[in-house]
Amino acid sequence: MELTLNQQAISLAALMFVRGNASFESSLHDEEISALEVLKQAKAVVPGVVSSRDAVCAFCGLYRGPIFRSNEGLMVQCPDCGPFALDPASQRSWRLDDEWLIRKLRGALDISPHATVNQIIDGVWDIGRHKKRPVVLARRIDLVERHGLRIFHGPEPRSQSWVITPRPLVRAPLEPLTGTATWWQLEDRFALHGLALRLLDPDQGEKSDNVQDGLPSVAVHGPFSEDFTWVHLEGWPHGPIRLTEAQTRVFAALWEHRDRAQSSKFIMRAARLDSEKPMDVFKVKAANRDDPTYEGPRWAYNQLVVRQRRLGQYRLAWSS
Ligand SMILES: [Zn+2]
Repeated sequence: MELTLNQQAISLAALMFVRGNASFESSLHDEEISALEVLKQAKAVVPGVVSSRDAVCAFCGLYRGPIFRSNEGLMVQCPDCGPFALDPASQRSWRLDDEWLIRKLRGALDISPHATVNQIIDGVWDIGRHKKRPVVLARRIDLVERHGLRIFHGPEPRSQSWVITPRPLVRAPLEPLTGTATWWQLEDRFALHGLALRLLDPDQGEKSDNVQDGLPSVAVHGPFSEDFTWVHLEGWPHGPIRLTEAQTRVFAALWEHRDRAQSSKFIMRAARLDSEKPMDVFKVKAANRDDPTYEGPRWAYNQLVVRQRRLGQYRLAWSS
């Protein structure tokens, strides 16, 4: 159930649309970097504004340090790691062009490019009519829930709208707009097709594949889903935790060898990963701190993996 590059690209576009502001290229996973290339080609992203005063530390990824000029060129002073030469590439950041998204959605929904776009509130737009019903685009579903009165029953009523938002980062009630509007999740209902977006037919296979990918399937192996991409744990307030490909492999390897502690070398080889230690693929970059999407896997790792310090061996803390 690997996502195709185009699916990864629309997922990344959706994530960047939720954020609204620029994301540092250096904070993206390897798969996201490839997806970003697709978005660059589609002209969906624009360069973010780069700070010339400070930069995130290339070593710890935790602190920003001031940029200063030395004999060796531009340097960054991390409060923890000390000075190092600034890599200009680490300064690159990108933001999703909201107007690109609106333009492409209108294309996919056969909305005339001459129809007007109205911003209803910050982060929520009326982008035209599809099958005679209003189309509302919002950065997040909770914005729609919070401002429902204004959006659907304001000066211009928009009953039975199509509402398009990215898939929520945390679990939302299944049908928050029942009776008021039809909710379409951007990543599930639209596909990147060359330089355009295409509306997927919900009755075709494409959609059901996506749904399986997106829905947290039930715990099968201890707390893990059948394919190890989800972790179900009590105590995490944001619902099931979605893992990256590398994290999935580490947990699958730890699960397979759960009967005895293993060296990090053994686990990482079993996971077919180049990193040195299991924890390496669970680190959260500074830019993603406090984001449950990234913090969730790290929290799960801390709950589930025991490191026997003296021997440097790892095992899964799960009794079953
Ligand atoms: Zn540092």
